[in-house]
Amino acid sequence: MSVFNAYMTLSGAVDADVRRDERLSRHTTYRIGGPAALFVAAHSYAALARTLSVLAAEGVEWVILGKGSNLLVADEGYDGCVITLDGEFSRHSFGEDGTLTAGAGASLARLVNDALKAGLSGLEPCAGIPGTLGGAVSMNAGTRREWIGGLVRDVVVLRPGEGMHRYAGSEIEWGYRSTSLPTSEIILEATLELKPASPERIAEDVDARLRRRRERQPLGAPSCGSVFRNPAGQSVGALIESCGLKGATCGGAQISPEHANFIVNRGGATAADVISLISRAHDAVRDRFGIDLLCEVKLLGFGA
Ligand SMILES: Cc1cc2nc3c(=O)[nH]c(=O)nc-3n(C[C@H](O)[C@H](O)[C@H](O)COP(=O)(O)OP(=O)(O)OC[C@H]3O[C@@H](n4cnc5c(N)ncnc54)[C@H](O)[C@@H]3O)c2cc1C
Repeated sequence: MSVFNAYMTLSGAVDADVRRDERLSRHTTYRIGGPAALFVAAHSYAALARTLSVLAAEGVEWVILGKGSNLLVADEGYDGCVITLDGEFSRHSFGEDGTLTAGAGASLARLVNDALKAGLSGLEPCAGIPGTLGGAVSMNAGTRREWIGGLVRDVVVLRPGEGMHRYAGSEIEWGYRSTSLPTSEIILEATLELKPASPERIAEDVDARLRRRRERQPLGAPSCGSVFRNPAGQSVGALIESCGLKGATCGGAQISPEHANFIVNRGGATAADVISLISRAHDAVRDRFGIDLLCEVKLLGFGA
């Protein structure tokens, strides 16, 4: 594979920013992560399609990055290409039928806010969730019982090497932090079905949800949100707390004293520090309760 050849071919494109050895700590909410060998911010569909075709020709593997709010990147970085969707992928518009169509790179917080102003309800469970629409659809973001998939009327994806494909929301299986969308496909755009409601009522709901987050979550320190998925009927935070691990540290990382399912970067934490605490919490819960916790956070650059 030749990252160098791919870089030489792609650099200078008018609708993409192409960089080598881009530190991914700049692109993750954890503020952790070594360099990506190649980094491409694609501002248009044409730029994305061209990037994928050059990477395929050069045999360079790639991954799509949203705002990196659910991602732990290895200290050694990633030896492929990280692609972000920007420019035309960040646009959104409302339809007369109460739908919201947005590009995958659109900020989820902005969509929540603009839907509120437009008097359209549905996105309230996403209030306070950082990231992009693409990341939210890919993760089926939301709460334990309410998730963005329930709003999706359709999703347009790019199947690399094939072209675009439109899924009806009803064709996709949506579960707690999971979807049946293949990970090999790139989400380009989604249309959400919202319902008219008074902006005041929506604002009240959003404010209450944001308040609950501020009361329960360690929002002052960099993190990736919940580290593990909650097992059915159980709270991971309570399980980890029962193992006496609230406040446990490794280097600059800490199992949050406020919420044990958050591991925060108290300053200078490495990915290795976070991984060490993830393993400690996982093993403690397995040994004490016989539960095999599954990670919600996605890992990049740690090998197969
Ligand atoms: C303080 C805090 C609170 C949080 N609270 C919540 C919460 O309440 N509920 C919740 O669900 N999550 C929560 N999260 C986690 C995170 O914000 C969500 O998972 C979010 O949807 C991830 O979006 P992103 O754009 O940052 O995606 P990234 O972290 O950049 O990527 C996540 C995954 O999605 C994939 N992906 C991203 N964009 C695309 C695309 N266009 N096409 C295909 N794949 C794509 C990536 O490859 C990766 O596998 C929280 C995180 C933080 C830091």
